[in-house]
Amino acid sequence: MPELPEVETSRRGIAPWVEGQTVTKVIVRERRLRWPVPPEIDRELPGQTIRSLSRRAKYLLFKTDAGTAMLHLGMSGSVRIIDADEPAAKHDHVDIQLESGKALRFRDPRRFGSFLWARDPFEHKLLRNLGPEPLSQDFDGDYLWQKARGRRVSIKQFIMNASIVVGVGNIYASEVLFHSGIHPRRSAGRIANGRMTLLVDSIKTVLERAIAAGGTTLKDFSGGDGEPGYFQQQLEVYGRAKESCRRCEREISLIVIGQRSTFYCKNCQH
Ligand code: ZN
Repeated sequence: MPELPEVETSRRGIAPWVEGQTVTKVIVRERRLRWPVPPEIDRELPGQTIRSLSRRAKYLLFKTDAGTAMLHLGMSGSVRIIDADEPAAKHDHVDIQLESGKALRFRDPRRFGSFLWARDPFEHKLLRNLGPEPLSQDFDGDYLWQKARGRRVSIKQFIMNASIVVGVGNIYASEVLFHSGIHPRRSAGRIANGRMTLLVDSIKTVLERAIAAGGTTLKDFSGGDGEPGYFQQQLEVYGRAKESCRRCEREISLIVIGQRSTFYCKNCQH
């Protein structure tokens, strides 16, 4: 599943192709995504110029003067830039054709993604109650410590809660807790302010590293066949149960927290 770094990599990959471009035509081949594709996508978007492509949480926001198209990649979605006349394959649900002769093509085999429309995306019900962006200045140790006061929920579930901070999915939650040496089951409210600052630093470091790794695959977002690359990057603990810890060489453990697989090192995390 694309997590925040992959979405940000997608944004950087396609932004130069779409920003400043006027939409000439929109083709919706399948409306039944996670939510139905609203008629505004094909009614309002043609003729509009894409002023900017930004990201909030895992939504890509195509801003125009008439409103903003909000694209979520779901479990299996991907976007790439193609020649507008390239024949569509199965699962190619939406094309946004551009004045350049290129098109943005959205493919999503499992159809958990969504393509929505909003006058003001930040007032949209899916976005307005979200916590801060993890890479923003608003997200710091004091903020996280304040939010955690009195909370008995595990720190892993706490940082995966999008109303606390967005963009820490299941893979990166295990990775950042290993990076900061915190046991994933520790109660959020029982972590001292200084350790919360370390945790916030780990979240920023691990996500930024993943985005940087994704940068090497940017070429895959335009032209050619095949899937744009969701990059394989080196993970420290996720998916490595019973393999040896890269720090202490003891066995990585697998537990389940909130029904999600959680990987950690008993020796390195407390
Ligand atoms: Zn270890």
